[in-house]
Amino acid sequence: KPVILWFRRDLRLDDNHALTAAVETDRPMICVYIREPENPDIGPLGGAQAWWLHHSLVALRESLRTHGNDLCLRTGPAEDVLQDIARTSGADIVFVNRAYERNSMDRDIALALKDAGIAIRAFHGQLLHDPKTIRTGSGNAFKVYTPFWNAMQKLGEPGEPTDAPDTVMAPETHPRSESLDGWDLLPTKPNWAAGFSEFWTPGEAGAKEKLEDLIDADLHDYKQGRDFPGTDATSKLSPHLALGEISPARIWHATNGLAARHKDDLVHFRKELAWRDFCYNLLVEFPELRTKNWDDKFDAFEWEFDTRDFTAWTKGLTGYPIVDAGMRELWQTGYMHNRVRMITASFLIKDLLIDWRRGEEWFRDTLLDADPASNTANWQWVAGSGADASPFFRIFNPILQGEKFDPDGDYVRHWVPELQKLPKKYIHKPFDAPDHVLADAGVEPGKTYPKPIVNHGLARDRALAAYKGLKG
Ligand code: FAD
Repeated sequence: KPVILWFRRDLRLDDNHALTAAVETDRPMICVYIREPENPDIGPLGGAQAWWLHHSLVALRESLRTHGNDLCLRTGPAEDVLQDIARTSGADIVFVNRAYERNSMDRDIALALKDAGIAIRAFHGQLLHDPKTIRTGSGNAFKVYTPFWNAMQKLGEPGEPTDAPDTVMAPETHPRSESLDGWDLLPTKPNWAAGFSEFWTPGEAGAKEKLEDLIDADLHDYKQGRDFPGTDATSKLSPHLALGEISPARIWHATNGLAARHKDDLVHFRKELAWRDFCYNLLVEFPELRTKNWDDKFDAFEWEFDTRDFTAWTKGLTGYPIVDAGMRELWQTGYMHNRVRMITASFLIKDLLIDWRRGEEWFRDTLLDADPASNTANWQWVAGSGADASPFFRIFNPILQGEKFDPDGDYVRHWVPELQKLPKKYIHKPFDAPDHVLADAGVEPGKTYPKPIVNHGLARDRALAAYKGLKG
């Protein structure tokens, strides 16, 4: 009898505990990926990540084929698809890796399968540590990051990663599979994802390459460099992690050799990886993190919504160069540097007074690394409504942030080429440049580059007044 291996956000053969356990049964394996109905807790799959998913499934299928097996693609509620495959193949066990964003859904699926006489074996591997293992002294989830990190360190290293098996024994007959092209995951017209493949290689091999680049660079200057969007100091592993093409434990252990040389950089990098775990811990604790304020005081916040402002933000036409550079980087590459994510999110929420949920939605649709925990937790962090969040009254000044973290304006010049010739002094505030400077640089405010859609000083006062009203 075969067993079923159900792939979800773990599209890899390396360090895949469900796969390792399934191989150990010495039974043939039916590998399946199911396109399920939308999960209301995590929201619809975004357009950018759908592009990634398509290519990642192609890569996984190729990899399974070189290991002697294949990938079966099916659509429908998971319990129905799994029961159907079990019925037609005689399989009686489903191996799966836990996906913490879908806890309650998975409990229901497990119950339905049990009723049908099918066992489900679930394994850990999505995070560095299982959320149940990191608890306060009184057994609750941590709501503040630093004690969470301290508790995580006490647990020691995450488990040793396991290598991919040499072969994955195939069943005598493969169950019927749908055509991936028929899933329409790729954009048609206009093909807004055309540029993505210039920057990314979805799939396990691409993830491995990114990890090797990181090791080759020795994580050099990560701690300082990670804040400067014009440099290439971070790993760019996030889209690979989002669909589980690489495990966080593999990344952790691969960086072990660097410990002696760049201790600070290494610790800082691991702390960022641990933020991902922390976000999942928050999501497990509060599954409505995407739709509801963690701090319900914010339920009374009087958000505004100006369609023109929102559109200008999405298109990178706000008149604030660092904001526009970030939003254009996002659109063209499916990625945005972390520092700039914070600046653009703060601008939407505080300068434009638009509900953070609109921003979360836009990022989810356009980010290749859109992650149900990290995206929602970080948006709530910027808004001030989250757990251990940055307070609402800490409002980023887009000009000063640009001058501090993109001091020569390289990042802005790259993504906002119409400002390329502006001198450094005005690159983050073209609106302050004298006419002759603008003329020399070929910039015509309102024509070649927008005038600011809001005055940051006034917008800041308005945001603080709205926040004060909330407290009162
Ligand atoms: P590195 O600096 O190399 O970090 C290594 C890994 O650590 C990342 O790949 C990521 O998995 C994790 N990590 C780093 N920073 C954070 C963080 N603040 N929170 C959680 N995990 C982190 N990250 C996502 O993966 N998906 C999202 O949807 C997402 N949305 C965000 C929305 C906003 C408003 C903000 C401010 C941040 C968001 N982040 C999100 C976090 C962060 O910006 C990205 O993880 C990071 O930029 C990815 O680049 P990297 O892989 O080069 O990171």
